[in-house]
Amino acid sequence: MTHFFDMDGTLAVYEPEIFQTQPWYENLPPHYFANLPPISSAVNYILSLLEMDRRSIYVCTTVAILDNDKAFYEITTDKIRWIQMHLKGRLLADHFLVARLPRGDNLTQAGSYTKSAVAMARLERPLQETDYLYDDFNPNLNDWRDHGGTPIKVLNGINSYRDDMNCISFS
Ligand SMILES: [Mg+2]
Repeated sequence: MTHFFDMDGTLAVYEPEIFQTQPWYENLPPHYFANLPPISSAVNYILSLLEMDRRSIYVCTTVAILDNDKAFYEITTDKIRWIQMHLKGRLLADHFLVARLPRGDNLTQAGSYTKSAVAMARLERPLQETDYLYDDFNPNLNDWRDHGGTPIKVLNGINSYRDDMNCISFS
């Protein structure tokens, strides 16, 4: 059994207004992703799972930057800082996974850069029903299910309930 957690909108508060202007990463406050407030009950949940068996817990986040290497590294580093602070150093270093979109691709046609692909590459096997993805974003959840895993939709007050998969609310 494995548990994969999304970050934005699942473990950390998601602020959609940040993504309104394009390219969205050019006007971020300094270290924006390191300073996002945690969704405390979600963080407590993953901490309790980490306590039980840290080898089964992963964080898988998308850094959706197509053409700016500097922004990609800064944001990824800030997300690692966030994980270190809020997960108290308990997440195994090689259990932090980044789905990076390739140039010229987009969120719904991410091909081999989807979370399922990143997870399968890390696990070195196909997804199974006992591989769970906690995520707030439907394309990630659908993709996970299409590849044999079990998606759990995280309701965060911005997205909507769906009756074809388990939903969970941490707030
Ligand atoms: Mg998300």
